[in-house]
Amino acid sequence: MIIRNARVVTLDAGNRVLDDADVEIGSDGAIKRVGTGLGLGVSGLGTPTPNPQSPTPAVEVLDAHGRLLMPALINCHTHLYSTLARGIALPGPAPKNFPEILRKLWWRLDRALEPDDVYVSALVGLIDCAKNGVGTLVDHHSSPNACAGSLDQIERAFREVGLRGVLCYETSDRDGPAKAQAALDENVRFIERTRRAGDGLIAASFGLHASFTLSDRTLRRAVEAEESLGAGFHIHVAEDRSDLEHARRRFKKTVVARLRDLGVMTDRTLAAHCIHVTAGDIAALAKLGSAVAHNPQSNANNAVGVAKLLELMAAGVLVGLGSDGYSPRMWDEFKTAFHLQKLRTGDPRVGYAEAWAAALLNNRTIARKLWGLELGRIEAGARADLILVDYYPPTPLHAGNLFGHLLFGIANAPVDTLIVDGRVVVRDKRCVTVDEAAVAERATRKAKALWERF
Ligand SMILES: [Zn+2]
Repeated sequence: MIIRNARVVTLDAGNRVLDDADVEIGSDGAIKRVGTGLGLGVSGLGTPTPNPQSPTPAVEVLDAHGRLLMPALINCHTHLYSTLARGIALPGPAPKNFPEILRKLWWRLDRALEPDDVYVSALVGLIDCAKNGVGTLVDHHSSPNACAGSLDQIERAFREVGLRGVLCYETSDRDGPAKAQAALDENVRFIERTRRAGDGLIAASFGLHASFTLSDRTLRRAVEAEESLGAGFHIHVAEDRSDLEHARRRFKKTVVARLRDLGVMTDRTLAAHCIHVTAGDIAALAKLGSAVAHNPQSNANNAVGVAKLLELMAAGVLVGLGSDGYSPRMWDEFKTAFHLQKLRTGDPRVGYAEAWAAALLNNRTIARKLWGLELGRIEAGARADLILVDYYPPTPLHAGNLFGHLLFGIANAPVDTLIVDGRVVVRDKRCVTVDEAAVAERATRKAKALWERF
């Protein structure tokens, strides 16, 4: 495929912005060339060009008509299983703190999930993400009464929609030892299978819920199992003050110190949230090389606090950006991350470098750690995960002022096209890989039945 006539935000080493450039994508799903004039001499603009004389596949030329081409976005922490909770009614008074939100909403919902709900909720969530320009998601799944094989259901949805995903199952002791064991088994099974049949589209990590629902015994077993697999843990860390209070009361340690001492925090670990962390914890995270996924909108919605993004990044912690299932729009997370640091510090000068790095640089580094693939940049050799955005800058746009254009323009502009691994997933703002209307209809039926069991 050749994409012609695009304004290209490369996010490459030189952070180049190329006016009126072309990008050639190889049949292996990698970017082959970035430059000008690559599409010349190819007829039939906008449609595949069959050549009856040649057995080689036709080259599709996609005319961007001056749209902005940039790398597809990455979501470093989400829960696709939460999708069918949209509009659900909670019984009794509204939850007044984070433990009540878990007990009254999420732990009731995940227990009610059946295998087909897992698949359908993933389909719905992935379509939403694709239409918002997200090509890669790092998911954290829980369905205690439909655990075995649940990651296969999510994988099926990823492959049908055509997005890239890192999947894991949430190990926890909150439903008893048999469920904890089933969760460990599901992680090990899926990691081993993905390793054997991995193709760069689906990867696996080892899922753990959080310190306050995991015993030392289960954590030790997880560490033992993960050691030979090397998949890395994906765990919620100090999301709410109650997690820190629990660790201090029970173990006389902070959450980070407890998990570090048990061997959970390594340079392969992805720790979501890390809000209630001390200066010592931040230094430990930096030293251990564990990555952090910052989820500002979810944190605000749950009223659990604001992560110390500035301090974490100043200490050298690799902080990426996730949505925690709150929104498919990573631009909204980018804006909220930026605004919250200003509000937290009372200083309008802060947050620029941190929000930029979290959304655009660190997410791709986290993805590379998980897969070894180059994502999030437009240059030869990187995977062709790209978005075309309806953004025609009304003021000069260059490498030095991209932040302003992102915040006030690109983030508000419709995503016209999403390409993942060289395959078109969204075209003319429609998801072309699955029947959106049929999925919505099926999801509504599933949601009705799920809400009755809730
Ligand atoms: Zn989460």
